[in-house]
Amino acid sequence: MAVLLKGEPVAAALRKKIRAEVSALARPPRLAILMAGESAASRRYVERKCDAAAEVGIGTELCALPAGAGRREILQLLNHWNEDDSIDGVLVQAPLPDRSLEDEVFGAVDPAKDVDGFHPHNVGLLALGQKDGLIPCTPKGILYLLEAYGIPIAGRRIVIIGRSRIVGLPLALLLQSRGLDGTVTLCHSRTAHLREIAREADLLISAVGSPNLVRAGWIREGATVVDVGQNFFSDPSSVGGRRLLGDVDFSVVAPHCGAITPVPGGVGPMTVASLLENVLLARQRGAAKSLQPSADA
Ligand code: NAP
Repeated sequence: MAVLLKGEPVAAALRKKIRAEVSALARPPRLAILMAGESAASRRYVERKCDAAAEVGIGTELCALPAGAGRREILQLLNHWNEDDSIDGVLVQAPLPDRSLEDEVFGAVDPAKDVDGFHPHNVGLLALGQKDGLIPCTPKGILYLLEAYGIPIAGRRIVIIGRSRIVGLPLALLLQSRGLDGTVTLCHSRTAHLREIAREADLLISAVGSPNLVRAGWIREGATVVDVGQNFFSDPSSVGGRRLLGDVDFSVVAPHCGAITPVPGGVGPMTVASLLENVLLARQRGAAKSLQPSADA
């Protein structure tokens, strides 16, 4: 039977460590969140982040802009938070109603406060294997989860399905970096022979958003499978009237795996805990910087 890679206990241990470090700070960290539009999913994600932040002693400031909010309004708000020394981390909840604005908006966050790790500066540091930038939360959370369960990465064949800036691309950069040393294949909607490529993986990670995309014939016997997908369906018989499915057809895939993440309860809690850690890191680095003598002193 496959080992279940449960995220909640690993995330709880990380949150405990963060809470202890936060309580030792003279001023608790503060996270500013911009949510644009009225997506119920975005609202749920934001509420979850705010609750988790409160639990470890991180303060939050939420600004919900209407879907029609323009580029100028968004950039003005980000600029305000960038300049505000009482704000340590800035997060723009994705996706924006106008996705064509995302490059400019993510690029407008101060890289030192970019707790999602989407700014080109932080992506560039990750691409160069320099780990002192802020690393995107889901890739970071997946890495912690694999480490916690002793899943090897070095020398392993890793196949990632999905190349988004949020998950697939930064995860590929991270797992192939020197020191982690995975051999990564990054797949997407134009990849030919996806099933055959997936079958070569020691570690298969799906981050697509397509329920039951990954089926039994896609898995090498004994492989580790990480399911990042979150696909919601209305289901009156479930708590809250909706059901969450991953990208992996769990019941048929799990018997062939050495280890597999559940959905829910796998990657999701790790993403949120990693966000809290990034806010703490941003706060600690900001505090250390303010103690350094200025160049013209
Ligand atoms: P996204 O920006 O829509 O990217 C999806 C990726 O999947 C794209 O690279 C796309 O290829 C690829 N793709 C689409 N259909 C495919 C197919 N049939 N075969 C192979 N590749 C295909 O999505 P995202 O933001 O990365 O999120 C992906 C999923 O992860 C969603 O379900 C999201 O809710 C979930 N998620 C979960 C967490 C968590 O904490 N658990 C965090 C973030 C996201 P192209 O690039 O060619 O379009």
